[in-house]
Amino acid sequence: MGSIRLVQMIVFAVALAFAGAASARALDLGPRTCTGGAVSAQQALALDPMALDCGSGRFDGNQPFVRTHVAVKSSQFPNGAPLVWQTNPAIYDSILLRFIYADGSRRLVKVDRQTAARNWTAGNKFAVAVPPAAAPLVEIDAVTERPRASATMRNATLTDRASAAREHYVRSLAYVLLCGLLIVPLVYDLLFYRVLRARFMLWHVAMAASMFAFVLSSSGLVFVPFPDLPLATRWHLSTVSLTITLAAAVLFAVGLLEKRVVPRWLSRYALLATGALLAIKLIGLLGGERIKLAIASWYFVALLAISSAAFLLVVVGLARRSRAAVFLAIAFAGMLLTMLLNVMVRIGAVTTRFSLDDMLYAGLVIMALGTSAGVADRFLVLRGERDRARSRASMLGKLALTDGLTGLLNRRAFDRLARLFGEQALLLGDIDRFKQINDDYGHQVGDEVLQQVAQLLGTGMDDRPGARVFRLGGEEFAIVAPFENAADLEDRAERLRRSVEAEAFPTVPVGLPTITISFGGVLGHGQSMREAMTAADRALYRAKRGGRNRSEFAETELLLAEMPPV
Ligand code: GH3
Ligand code: MG
Ligand code: MG
Repeated sequence: MGSIRLVQMIVFAVALAFAGAASARALDLGPRTCTGGAVSAQQALALDPMALDCGSGRFDGNQPFVRTHVAVKSSQFPNGAPLVWQTNPAIYDSILLRFIYADGSRRLVKVDRQTAARNWTAGNKFAVAVPPAAAPLVEIDAVTERPRASATMRNATLTDRASAAREHYVRSLAYVLLCGLLIVPLVYDLLFYRVLRARFMLWHVAMAASMFAFVLSSSGLVFVPFPDLPLATRWHLSTVSLTITLAAAVLFAVGLLEKRVVPRWLSRYALLATGALLAIKLIGLLGGERIKLAIASWYFVALLAISSAAFLLVVVGLARRSRAAVFLAIAFAGMLLTMLLNVMVRIGAVTTRFSLDDMLYAGLVIMALGTSAGVADRFLVLRGERDRARSRASMLGKLALTDGLTGLLNRRAFDRLARLFGEQALLLGDIDRFKQINDDYGHQVGDEVLQQVAQLLGTGMDDRPGARVFRLGGEEFAIVAPFENAADLEDRAERLRRSVEAEAFPTVPVGLPTITISFGGVLGHGQSMREAMTAADRALYRAKRGGRNRSEFAETELLLAEMPPV
């Protein structure tokens, strides 16, 4: 399939781009940074570097001004190459940067919020040019005013400008491709949903759409169409969309897994964890500054809960041999690993050499692809089931309307007709002295005669589109078909009658009298089927009384039909 090819190409390009980006020569400042809190920028800058906190909890402080200090060895950069300081802006009020050079000279750079939006570089960060000086750079101090997330202090890097520009280019390309990749499941979902209305497809749409919003906002691509977007809006957009992505992914998993697979307690737990995560995010959005800080750790707990729900859904599903669980296991593997690493890094159990942000993106790509494959697979399974059920139902329906002996439509099918429409006429046929044939030659022979007459009537009407032939019961038949006028109807009845009379009936014993049939017909003019039946029956009775093997027609209706249109 062409689209699978396209997806493969996009994944390859994204992987290549991230690999290229990772090779940029960046000096990660976070691990070497020590911090201290203060109530003003002046006080923060005046703190003794030796008195700063270099422990594992150093970024968790909660002070209006946070000073970070790091000693740098800029010898790893080409001599005299222009450098840039980069960090994740998250939300802050202002940042005061102090660059200290080997000759003791210092430069101050003030960074406000809009600087971050203007100097955005792909990869959740923005860049500040390090002022050039005669001597190499040896220390960086940063005082962040009211930081709302530790990432601003934790994720600072120092890079030479050329590498930073290259990384920005490659990453931008990767994010654009990633967004393209996410449009594919969105389109597919909507197409699938038109055919098969399953709720999990809507959760998948929600997941893919919010993932799209997350990549757009967290990568900073959103600044391309909206250059004046406030920093805080971008931040909220990215955290909210990530929250919705996770919530929708878990609800999707519950829906995708077959009903028998998910125990009640587990689907309740998953719903609870999802609800808690969304509620905490909402409270954090609406609440004031103090609530936000208090709620940060609750959010983390809810993240753990929802991750464990996803993990349990996969494990329980696999244990119960669910087909969907295999897709979910692949889909969630990257995200669960990212979450696990996040926790381990947070508690200081491990340090990673690669960016957890990049791992999150990789996890999201795997999740988008794995869940899409799961949707497609389920779509095929469900559609197969539905098609089988439909064809079974239509077969039963057909059987219910078919006469078992002759294969013609039966009385039940005839009774569904309410009236004669437009040009339709009703022709009733009744085999002459049929009882006698039964009596003289046996029921078996009678049945064969019925089958043969039925076939003659059927083929005799074959050339007329819209004609239907019924066996009403016994040796009585009905034909409902369009006729141009009375002459057309009479002519056709005569032809049918003669074809029965001329038939050799070869399967029955020698000596069988000639089988004949009588017809009574009525041309329709919109009358109800009951009225038409009465008229046709009367005509048939006349044919029998008139000697059989002949056709009679309801007079009044014929006259009516022969009158020129007014
Ligand atoms: P008429 O010319 O007046 O129509 O005489 P008839 O003998 O054809 O009419 P009548 O209604 O008296 O007889 C119909 C017979 O059809 C009675 C019944 O034995 C026979 N019959 C009804 N259903 C079946 C069937 O399924 N198979 C066979 N072999 N005979 C049937
Ligand atoms: Mg009869
Ligand atoms: Mg009869």
